[in-house]
Amino acid sequence: MLLESGPRLGMVGGGQLARMSAAPASALGIEFWVLAAHADESAAQVVQHVMLGSHENVEDLRDFAASVDVMTFDHEHVPPDHLRQLQAMGVAVRPGPDALIFAQDKLRMRQMLTEAGLRCPAWAQVWSAADVEHFAQSNGWPVVLKTSRGGYDGKGVWVIEHLDQVQQVLETSLPPDAVWLVEAHVRFTRELCAQVARSPHGQAVAYPVVQTMQRDGVCAEVISPAPDLDPERAVSAQAMALHIADLLDVTGMLAVEMFDDGEHLYVNELAMRPHNSGHWSIDGSVTSQFENHLRAVLDLPLGSPRALAPYAVMVNILGGDVGDLYSAYRHVLARDPGIKVHLYGKAVRPGRKVGHVTCIGDDLPSLLERARHAADYFSGTIDH
Ligand code: ADP
Repeated sequence: MLLESGPRLGMVGGGQLARMSAAPASALGIEFWVLAAHADESAAQVVQHVMLGSHENVEDLRDFAASVDVMTFDHEHVPPDHLRQLQAMGVAVRPGPDALIFAQDKLRMRQMLTEAGLRCPAWAQVWSAADVEHFAQSNGWPVVLKTSRGGYDGKGVWVIEHLDQVQQVLETSLPPDAVWLVEAHVRFTRELCAQVARSPHGQAVAYPVVQTMQRDGVCAEVISPAPDLDPERAVSAQAMALHIADLLDVTGMLAVEMFDDGEHLYVNELAMRPHNSGHWSIDGSVTSQFENHLRAVLDLPLGSPRALAPYAVMVNILGGDVGDLYSAYRHVLARDPGIKVHLYGKAVRPGRKVGHVTCIGDDLPSLLERARHAADYFSGTIDH
């Protein structure tokens, strides 16, 4: 039985983030709605209140808004003008379009961070190969070319070694009206992520700063907390994320992806939703990022982000040769009673994120071995 007096919460997007948000919504007795594109999407399979429609269609968004009191997102792709129309209808849109734009548009994000005096890679907007060459003359090759909008999981990001490659990327990769920026290629030793939750009246909590490892632009592994991170630097990363959340009036979860070159931290990207870097928190913290996102957008008091063990390791399960993921359960669960498996109900395709595993404890090398083994077994890179 749900709490009859509570608000109805709607999440736009039916992916795995919405699916993982459904569990704490159920635990808290919150009526949880999802706007999904298809009935077989990850969240649509498990959520009772699903509306089918497109996040790009303002009529669909309006219909969805009419069913909910507070609207939030499992991705960043809803056009800001649509969100303003919903706000005008009286719907609480969290995060709001004025904050979300900085997670949608990398050029706007770089401009804002630079104005705020926050360190990020050297960058410039570019219109032509000559502009990129000019930038590389001062910053050196390689450079990183990015489209301002629409990228995710490394799509829309190209590391460019020579001028010859630039024209081809600019001409063939995207619509002719794409906005481009170029960045210095940061020689980082590792990537970090600082996540915070912030509510409309300004309460905020910071999760431990994690280390993330990407493969082919896709998050592969997360270790919480980032090993051997100087406590002062960890606190300054958390303080920076809290500062950005406050500056932009973010409501819900904010992830600040960073590069660590051993000397400085550079902000790479912002995400205003639960994030792959925080999946460990479902099994590894007092209050998961999904629960705190719900609490934050509903303006409820936030839960403790405290870790339950010295380390948590999360490894993504990427689609491989094995179509039937269930066939891996007997081995994975029998081998390791401490491992937690999360599958997203997505069709297996090579390289696609279809789930993740987490284990928590105090022996980091053993946690890494256990989590990698389980993920590899699901992906079929270990013989069944
Ligand atoms: P996405 O929109 O896919 O999240 P990102 O801007 O986060 O795109 O880039 C994806 C990955 O590309 C990063 O996680 C990092 O590994 C690499 N990358 C992006 N920008 C830079 C940079 N300026 N220097 C070095 N590596 C970068």
